[in-house]
Amino acid sequence: MDNKQANATTRQGQPLAPMRERLTQYMEEKAMRKTPERYEILRVAMLTNGIFTIDGLMKSMQEHGEFQVSRATLFNTMELFCKAGILIKHQLATAAHYEIRSDCTPKAYVICRQCNTITKVSTGTAKLALTNLHVRYFSIEDKLLYMHGLCRYCQAKNRQDARKKKKSIKQDKNKYGKR
Ligand SMILES: [Zn+2]
Repeated sequence: MDNKQANATTRQGQPLAPMRERLTQYMEEKAMRKTPERYEILRVAMLTNGIFTIDGLMKSMQEHGEFQVSRATLFNTMELFCKAGILIKHQLATAAHYEIRSDCTPKAYVICRQCNTITKVSTGTAKLALTNLHVRYFSIEDKLLYMHGLCRYCQAKNRQDARKKKKSIKQDKNKYGKR
């Protein structure tokens, strides 16, 4: 590891070194090859702001990566990172979204049913409820809460669309009313 990498932190301020260590440990345990590509993918994944998709990571690799890797490699590496406990995978109806698993504190998300965006939210009450939640005979590793609904952009868009529709109905009424 060169100095640049050792001291690197992500945009969110997460240090890279502990994540690299976790990856190394996992690959050693599983007798996997510690390829430089895997470390580079980790570095670039940690540059992404919060939640990302394979497509988004592919783009980041093209922009910031020292290697160019295939989609299949990225996909397989994400699976590896999930198993190593480095990533949280959000299994959504559209495409899988990933997020660096920086800690094990409860997390809450809102998912828009119209544009499918997923956003992390900080709601104290939701987190408190999750903190106190335990399941017998089950060792919980991540507490994730998903709330589905409409984001503010889609709400605004729908209001605008409704207004347009109302206006065009009114115009139609005027047009036909004059006959
Ligand atoms: Zn939306």
